[in-house]
Amino acid sequence: MREEDLLKASSYRDRVSTVTDTGGRKWVYATKPFGKWFNYRKILAYTYILVFVILPFIKVNGMPFMMINIPQGKFILFSKIFWPQDFFIFAIAMITFIIFIVLFTVVFGRLFCGWVCPQTVFLEFIFRPIEWLIEGIPGQQKKLNDGDWTFEKIYKKALKHFIYFTILFIIANLFLSYIISIDELLKIIKEPLKDHIPLLFGLVFFTYLFYAVFAFVREIVCTTICPYGRLQGVMFDKDTMQVAYDYVRGEPRGKFKKHAERSDGDCIDCLKCVNVCPTGIDIRNGLQMECVGCTACIDACDDVMESINFKKGLIRYASENKISTGKSFHFNGRMKAYTALLSVLLVVMIFLVSTRKSVDTYISRVKGQLYQEAPNNKISNLFEAKIINKTNKDIAVTIRTININGEIKLIGAKEIILKKESMNKVDFFLEIPKSELKKRSNAIKIVVYKGDEKIQTIKTSFLGPFK
Ligand code: SF4
Ligand code: SF4
Repeated sequence: MREEDLLKASSYRDRVSTVTDTGGRKWVYATKPFGKWFNYRKILAYTYILVFVILPFIKVNGMPFMMINIPQGKFILFSKIFWPQDFFIFAIAMITFIIFIVLFTVVFGRLFCGWVCPQTVFLEFIFRPIEWLIEGIPGQQKKLNDGDWTFEKIYKKALKHFIYFTILFIIANLFLSYIISIDELLKIIKEPLKDHIPLLFGLVFFTYLFYAVFAFVREIVCTTICPYGRLQGVMFDKDTMQVAYDYVRGEPRGKFKKHAERSDGDCIDCLKCVNVCPTGIDIRNGLQMECVGCTACIDACDDVMESINFKKGLIRYASENKISTGKSFHFNGRMKAYTALLSVLLVVMIFLVSTRKSVDTYISRVKGQLYQEAPNNKISNLFEAKIINKTNKDIAVTIRTININGEIKLIGAKEIILKKESMNKVDFFLEIPKSELKKRSNAIKIVVYKGDEKIQTIKTSFLGPFK
């Protein structure tokens, strides 16, 4: 190939495929995919959307199944409440999730983006179908966009954007229900609007943000903005499975001529794989950062291959090694290392979650206080307890010392009732006979009981008068 032709052939590396020579936006008019992979994606996407819509309504024992209340630092997962005190579990969960994503990407490439990322699912299975319905196939959409502002154009654009905005307002409300719970959201909806102006302002802001993303920004999120997409380059290797064009079989390209002897490769240069691509790339140029692994080009090419009686799979899900050498998938050292790390983290997570207490107690002497002489030859220390009730029920508890003969005297209360889903502060004096104290600082154990059930033992110290 001449140098000039080589440069032309690799010019796709110089800029994003959806940017024109003058730096403008090249709008992607992707054709509608169809085929086996698209059908699988459709089932997964609509199941996913259904789960997203109904999940806030699901409750177990009166608790939402899932709630992520960032402003209050209260998280409910699988109907279990997690408090800021459980943040180390969240930190480990986040690290576990990141390692899982890295391992998944090293093995399966960017499949997450094309199949489960909300950006792709909402765009390809809600907003693009609405566009097809109102504005027609890609050729008709381009004609409409390039044409004058006739009544038809105004009507179609207004209708499409009104539907987009309405759906996105509902989606913004659903996201809010994951934060404040669906009950709180429904309560707010019934209350006068003037009582919730800041909240409404926030909802409208996010609706506009989502609207900008799905109506205009679209694939730029995947190709330019998303950090996960930008990091693929360091995660992929030659054993990573990906949507790949079989250049060994496909090249050199040549038009298909019926009944003629074929000396070219199997790619008939019909461009159907390019026209269907939602990020506007040509998969035949090899692995590109813009590919979200949606598999639409696999369906498009399989359809072409079938129609001309060629073997399917010219574009398929395969590793670079499989394409270039024909070797089967190899679970390499890097994948094994990530799997080992992920297994360890999962074991730690399971241990932390299964041993997590539903009542968590912190007891310490009140700072700056020494001991006091009490009647009957006793010494008294002032303590404060912070007891977190992570359940959704009030709980009555008692506290007692176990390794020393101490008497607990609550301040300002006769009994300890832990309010549900909250941190309860309890102040008390602990009185211990002088005869039991051998040192200035005496190690003691205080136990929290729910009825006769011992729920936690806390070690602390008790100050006596000795040097
Ligand atoms: S759809 Fe298949 S045959 Fe057509 S251009 Fe793409 S790779 Fe070649
Ligand atoms: S190249 Fe194929 S798999 Fe990648 S984004 Fe385009 S259509 Fe989807």
